[in-house]
Amino acid sequence: MIKSDFGVIGLGVMGKSISLNVSENGFPISVYNREFPGEEYVVEDFLKTNHSFTNIQGFTELKSFIDSQKTPRKIFLMIKAGDAIDQMIDQLLPFLSKGDIIIDGGNSHYLDTKKRFDFLSSKGINFIGCGVSGGEEGARSGPSMMPGGTKESYNQVSQILETIAAKDSNGKPCCTFVGPEGSGHFVKMVHNGIEYAEMQLLTELYALLSTTLNYQEIAQYFLEWNKGELESFLLEITANILQKKEGNDYLLDKILDKAQNKGTGSWSSIAALNLGYPNTIMSSAVFARYISSFKEKRVVYSNQTKKLSDEKLSIDIESIKKAYQFARIINHQQGFALIKQATDVYEWNLNLSELARIWTNGCIIRSALMNDLSSLFTKNEDIIDDSKTFKFLNQFENDVSKTIQNAFSKRIALDSFCSAYNYWISMTSNKLPANLIQAQRDYFGAHTYQRIDKDSNEYFHTNWKVK
Ligand code: NDP
Repeated sequence: MIKSDFGVIGLGVMGKSISLNVSENGFPISVYNREFPGEEYVVEDFLKTNHSFTNIQGFTELKSFIDSQKTPRKIFLMIKAGDAIDQMIDQLLPFLSKGDIIIDGGNSHYLDTKKRFDFLSSKGINFIGCGVSGGEEGARSGPSMMPGGTKESYNQVSQILETIAAKDSNGKPCCTFVGPEGSGHFVKMVHNGIEYAEMQLLTELYALLSTTLNYQEIAQYFLEWNKGELESFLLEITANILQKKEGNDYLLDKILDKAQNKGTGSWSSIAALNLGYPNTIMSSAVFARYISSFKEKRVVYSNQTKKLSDEKLSIDIESIKKAYQFARIINHQQGFALIKQATDVYEWNLNLSELARIWTNGCIIRSALMNDLSSLFTKNEDIIDDSKTFKFLNQFENDVSKTIQNAFSKRIALDSFCSAYNYWISMTSNKLPANLIQAQRDYFGAHTYQRIDKDSNEYFHTNWKVK
């Protein structure tokens, strides 16, 4: 066998698909999976199932896997994030040569990626933390890829990554060098945070609309919206989900209402808290999932709350559509502003327009809005700095409040719509009640405050006790 151009470790859902994608694009590839109890035949089965892919070599032993590759080796880890990555790096190190490249394609935390980058640099090994989005199907036919590390090491893998990636509407790869150290995994994390909020907004719409409309009717509206500026992958799949039947029943009605998560949404929220950016929609979406997990308590409490009349809500679908457009813009505003904040704090110099561009295809949050953002970010750093968008948000503000009031009248929680609305109202208020917070802080903790009638560099303390 000739030496391989690329190596993939981990033949799980994503690793299998990425490997077939690389192979199909004409790059000879080596694949490895550990022989774990119950997983002894993963490699053998993969090779058997895909015997027509003649440029794939399979291994269950690391040394031969490494030896089968051209140098510098390009090893793509597609395994569970966390300790498994460090363990794998430790196992690989004895067999690697200076200049080899390890690419972590999993959902690793960006701060772990920074540590691994520094550690491997000290050993002469290049490390790329590469966010991958698109799920199983995307990995197979073209994912969106977000590699971070050094430009020099990226240049050595760019041909393969850019070939296997999805392509944007101009035929350019949805893969670009993102920036230094953990920045690729940071933007993937925020991508997932935006995804959480996009899913939650659709979920809240489903809750509201199903008070009055049946699933077919909701799906028809979603499909209609999907033909215009609201077009998105998540809207499309939601319309499909709503129509899926099992026998005479909708499958959706048979699914337990407890949402799970794998952590990237909460990581994004924690990063927002640490970096000081109000990413309220993302966090509300994570918390909405957490609340759903308290199913047993919810059932008990719901039996003790007042029963609502069966009277149907009068649905103003055009107004709800505008509220949805509004909330999506605020969601993207918050997500990209978090990336901008990280760029400033970590001095990453990330290109928001390029990021939006590589998210226009292959990934879960691809949408018509993302296409617009790619060009908007060439002129503005904040979405709401764009005058057309600002005017639009201003105009649709009433639709959001109307939608929220309507939902509350039927005891439907709209966590993410409310977060979007509150963010907009506060961000566009010249006076907030934060003066009272400052007074309270000074009262009990002597934390001092600034005054509007004095220089902003001056801080004051008052003895607040009223005698
Ligand atoms: P799977 O659970 O399908 O596969 C996990 C792989 O990791 C398996 O090959 C497994 O090997 C291997 N593995 C687990 N622990 C170890 C270990 N300690 N040492 C060596 N190998 C190990 O996961 P996915 O393919 O879905 O995900 C892989 C990564 O990609 C994750 O970080 C995930 O978050 C990320 N990701 C997943 C997406 C998705 O849609 N599924 C989308 C984007 C990113 P074994 O078979 O022996 O258990």
